[in-house]
Amino acid sequence: MTVRYRADAVVPCVEPGVVLRPGVVEVADGVITHVGPEASATVAEEVVVSGALLPGLINTHCHSPMTLFRGAGGGLPLERWLGEVVWPREANLEAEDVYWGMTLAVAELLRFGVTTSCEMYFHEDAIADAVLAAGTRAVITPGVLQLPGRSRDGAWWEPQLDVFTDFHRRRQGEAGRIDVGFAAHAPYSVPMEGLAAAAEAARSCDTLFHLHLAETEMECTGFLADHGTSEPLALESAGVLEGRVLAAHGVWLDDDDISCLARHDVAVAHCPQSNAKLASGMAPVTGLLAAGVTVALGTDGPASNNDLDLWEDMRTAAFLARLRERDASALLAAGALDLATRAGGAALGRPDLGVLSAGTPADMIAFDLDDPVFVPWLEDDELFEHLVWAASGRLVTDVWVAGRQVVRAGSCLTVDVEEARRQVETRARRLMEVQ
Ligand SMILES: [Zn+2]
Repeated sequence: MTVRYRADAVVPCVEPGVVLRPGVVEVADGVITHVGPEASATVAEEVVVSGALLPGLINTHCHSPMTLFRGAGGGLPLERWLGEVVWPREANLEAEDVYWGMTLAVAELLRFGVTTSCEMYFHEDAIADAVLAAGTRAVITPGVLQLPGRSRDGAWWEPQLDVFTDFHRRRQGEAGRIDVGFAAHAPYSVPMEGLAAAAEAARSCDTLFHLHLAETEMECTGFLADHGTSEPLALESAGVLEGRVLAAHGVWLDDDDISCLARHDVAVAHCPQSNAKLASGMAPVTGLLAAGVTVALGTDGPASNNDLDLWEDMRTAAFLARLRERDASALLAAGALDLATRAGGAALGRPDLGVLSAGTPADMIAFDLDDPVFVPWLEDDELFEHLVWAASGRLVTDVWVAGRQVVRAGSCLTVDVEEARRQVETRARRLMEVQ
């Protein structure tokens, strides 16, 4: 059966700046069959949505189960925060910890209208289980990383890649809501041979390769001293940038680095709030966009941001782009929304996500337009000003993934949030105490 959703406004996000006021989205079997102005409706069955309908947002860089470490080690610089707070706790992580950390995170992501997240974390099966149970969608990219204290002899990454390849074989495409990619933590933490092997494993499975890149100045200065060249150029020389690559952060990039990323069609997951909180710097977003690089948004982990509200990152991206360039037109509101939606799907190699158009999965969110921040709304495109500069993820009222409603009136229907809270509280305490 085809269902017609009629909303006061439909924002398809296929191209920036378009609003259908009012508009309709028609859905059959979890797939959008038609999007258009109200007069174009083709079926009678109607669900009236109060407010605006938008595509679900795409969080392209996340370590969502780190809800377990939210708030720990505040105020430390990145290197000390990882070495003294995060890695010691992660050394004791069990799969069930990750399951509950992810479950709580998914409830938060959905509540803020994020229907797809790209996850780089341990215990990938537990992440997939939590995503499927919550009825949402994820690109899961388990990553090559050797925690401190473990052997770094030989090609230590190879057994890890064997495990990830098996994970891809078992779970790629599961329920139509799980994509599996590969990751390696970063050029400063994994040898170039390991990065190349992980990228090659991703290519051989025709899937995404995900890594952290050029996040802090200290990291990049050290890398240059050790290798005589920048991270992007070294990765290019080692063949790491062939295939579909998603680089998180990309803060410390010069013009040669940006050209290199553009040359290889590397997408950047811009994480402006994480970069601001950890004082990493302001990424050259306008330079990347001008060079033709796909720039999408990520919250980064909830231990470093500290929430999964991608609306905040959208606004911060626009703030920082303008501050960095001292140009009030550096990133327009509709362009900022584009980073969180269409560009997110493109960055993940899923151009059918982050847009409302016929033939794409019905991942949609409804936004409350009755809030005073939407007044006045005189010209159609002022909606983007209100969404980006004045609204909040807390105004998301309803969420559908593949046509199934998973949030109604702000409440997640698919997660027992009380149980998830209790589990994460208990497990976080244990991980703090055993380190
Ligand atoms: Zn990260």
